[in-house]
Amino acid sequence: MLLSVVVPCYNEEAVILETHRRLSEVLSGMKNLDWEILYVDDGSSDRTPELLGQVQRAEERVRFIRLSRNFGHQIAFSAGLDYAHGEAVVVIDADLQDPPEVIPEMVERWRDGYHVVYGARTCREGETTFKLWTAKIFYRLLNRLSNLKMPVDVGDFRLMDRKVVDALRAMPERDRFLRGMVSWVGFRQIAVLYKRAPRFAGESKYPLLKMIRFAADAVISFSFVPLRLVIWLGVGAIGLAFLGILYAIVLRFFFDPSHWVRGWASIFVAVLFMSGVQLISIGIIGEYVGRIYGEVKHRPLYFVQEGKEGKSKKVKGKSVDTPKGVN
Ligand code: UDP
Ligand code: MG
Repeated sequence: MLLSVVVPCYNEEAVILETHRRLSEVLSGMKNLDWEILYVDDGSSDRTPELLGQVQRAEERVRFIRLSRNFGHQIAFSAGLDYAHGEAVVVIDADLQDPPEVIPEMVERWRDGYHVVYGARTCREGETTFKLWTAKIFYRLLNRLSNLKMPVDVGDFRLMDRKVVDALRAMPERDRFLRGMVSWVGFRQIAVLYKRAPRFAGESKYPLLKMIRFAADAVISFSFVPLRLVIWLGVGAIGLAFLGILYAIVLRFFFDPSHWVRGWASIFVAVLFMSGVQLISIGIIGEYVGRIYGEVKHRPLYFVQEGKEGKSKKVKGKSVDTPKGVN
């Protein structure tokens, strides 16, 4: 059985050789297992591609692809899945924050019959409190907002069976939030615990702005809740408007003019009511936009875990039965 290890790398010249040494050490120690390492260079501007080229020339089991420019971690990850040949694929960061020593345990679980074995972090050394907190809030929020049940404190370090890899490859969406997608596809999933180490060397490639973009991708790809919020806002506004309208009418008709300004009631009522109506309308349009978005993503409707044979042939229109001239 072939195991592919995919390593996305972006400007990792400071760590890449050490990463390679530790990875090969762990992989060589595993019995009854064929393996390959696939490095995906995500348009690095330092010596990373050069070093990876050397490693590849020296070792047969190492493959190396170089993207034409920097596309971002999630895309590099997807490219790795496209090029990996293995029966199972492990994706691991290049900076040694995810310890390669966990891989044998993942393979063990995979042999037990699990399709996804994700690394769950028990503790994260060398991360700022800010990053820890934002990560925590983010995952809880995402679970609330979407119907994904994503495990908390899980990164992209995981092993995936060929079935899952093919499922992910069948999802052509462009904004790729892979850990969400992996949860979404289903199959048998299980966690292994590990301690997330600090970065071995070099700097994080995820500054705050990129993190916010990442979070937005996640929420927007998996949830219509922000769109639906508008409808609820509209309903709330209309509810308030009716109270306001009542108030204005009572003032206008049951109190003497010293209590109100001429023309005030009509403007007040119109503004309140119309803004509620507008919000609801935007929300309804949003609902359709959300559905269009869902359709455009072209995700497969389902995946089959077992028993693929016997699917009937696609029916192509009714042209066979339709007599000529009838249409
Ligand atoms: N990475 C990448 N493309 C990018 C940014 C990062 O391939 O545009 C890789 C990077 O080399 C590393 C992994 O993605 O292997 C995770 O990045 P990083 O360690 O900087 O993120 P953090 O661990 O700080 O979230
Ligand atoms: Mg890192």
